Amino acid sequence: MSVKVDITIVGAGVIGCAVAYRIASEYTGSKDIVVVERNSQINGENQSSRNSGVIHAGVYYPSDVGPLKAKLCVEGNRMLYEFCKSHNIPHKMCGKLLIANDALEEEYLYDVHRIASENNVPDLEIIGQKDIAALEPNVNGVRALYVPTSGVIESTSLVNKLYDLSEEKEVMFLVGNKVTKIEPHNSGFEVTIESANDKEVFQTETLINSAGLYADEIARMANPDCPYRMDPVKGESASFYKSARDDISMNGLNIYPVPFGYLPDGERLRVGFREFKKLFDEGKVIKSVGVHLTPTFELSGDEYMIGDTVTIGPAYSTPKNREDYIATREPAYYHSMVNPFFPNIRLEDVKLHQAGIRAKLAGHYDFVIERDPVHKNLINLIGMDSPGLTSSLAIANHIAKMIH
Ligand SMILES: Cc1cc2nc3c(=O)[nH]c(=O)nc-3n(C[C@H](O)[C@H](O)[C@H](O)COP(=O)(O)OP(=O)(O)OC[C@H]3O[C@@H](n4cnc5c(N)ncnc54)[C@H](O)[C@@H]3O)c2cc1C
Repeated sequence: MSVKVDITIVGAGVIGCAVAYRIASEYTGSKDIVVVERNSQINGENQSSRNSGVIHAGVYYPSDVGPLKAKLCVEGNRMLYEFCKSHNIPHKMCGKLLIANDALEEEYLYDVHRIASENNVPDLEIIGQKDIAALEPNVNGVRALYVPTSGVIESTSLVNKLYDLSEEKEVMFLVGNKVTKIEPHNSGFEVTIESANDKEVFQTETLINSAGLYADEIARMANPDCPYRMDPVKGESASFYKSARDDISMNGLNIYPVPFGYLPDGERLRVGFREFKKLFDEGKVIKSVGVHLTPTFELSGDEYMIGDTVTIGPAYSTPKNREDYIATREPAYYHSMVNPFFPNIRLEDVKLHQAGIRAKLAGHYDFVIERDPVHKNLINLIGMDSPGLTSSLAIANHIAKMIH
């Protein structure tokens, strides 16, 4: 007879680890909790370390098309700052400027302000040129939305801490094991896992699918009729090293353009807001936060500090597959994207850095967090792209309420 556990989580990215810790905090000693992770280490490889490390405030997500993103990002922002403070995770509430450079861009800016206000993001301020210069002297803009609750985090430290805390609460991590088969069995499931030289089958009553880029495949292992399909988007980034340009002073804010429409090839669409909205509603363009400047944590001795590096990205493109981390963007692309609001940067200041792949769902904007309609003890988390890092602790609370 195979082993039986109460709760199994597939995937130990930031969301899987946050869910494990949250549930274990409630059920230590009374329920067996297992996390299966196919990578050989738990360090946030996949989305949880290959991201921009921004603690989003919740300004982008309209609650009509993205109610979960809107709610969980704003809640997650607050929870993440508290968690980081109590567990010494490198982070900083550095604030953010969303920059409009002309009248056309201002139309987009006011729409973000509307969404952010509806989401109850605190302390928002629309500011003009003088105030922009006071906050970031080398940034160019006619108007900006100042968002003080935006920040940055060293995301691998967060994953590691959630992993350690979960282990302390007796969660068992099966690292280097890939879930290859899920068969519904009574009210639960029979799960097959495969490692480099072993194959095992065990039973679980509840299954939580937090497999990131592969969550649609995991969902279909249990129910082949699951309709969600991943349409992954590559997000590449570059770096700007402040020490190379002593003449450019930076005060360490997140600096973003207004969120524009982008064509599938990553080119920005310069049309008025109403036309953009029409194309967006017809699914012809995507809306993206755009290529931005983000202060970045670096190891200094054995401590993470915000250092010399400012990350420039993400620059979007279509990956060949879900493992395609090859960078395709040239420095000139990043330069052209940030130059309008950060005019003193030179092409030679842009150094290529890394790529990540977002678990974006085809034709669906919001996070999908729901029970499988046939096998109710399977909870799927699909399409957990940005702001999944910011929202992770709030997502974990949401799941804990679902399994009560
Ligand atoms: C370029 C980029 C920039 C981003 N920027 C931000 C940002 O600034 N702020 C923000 O809030 N969010 C950001 N995000 C989004 C954020 O990183 C993700 O939402 C978050 O990391 C998702 O976490 P996860 O645990 O769901 O997924 P992942 O980190 O992808 O983890 C999923 C895990 O499941 C495992 N797995 C998959 N299949 C199996 C299987 N069959 N068996 C066992 N294990 C399996 C994988 O190995 C992986 O470890 C960004 C994402 C990208 C790619």
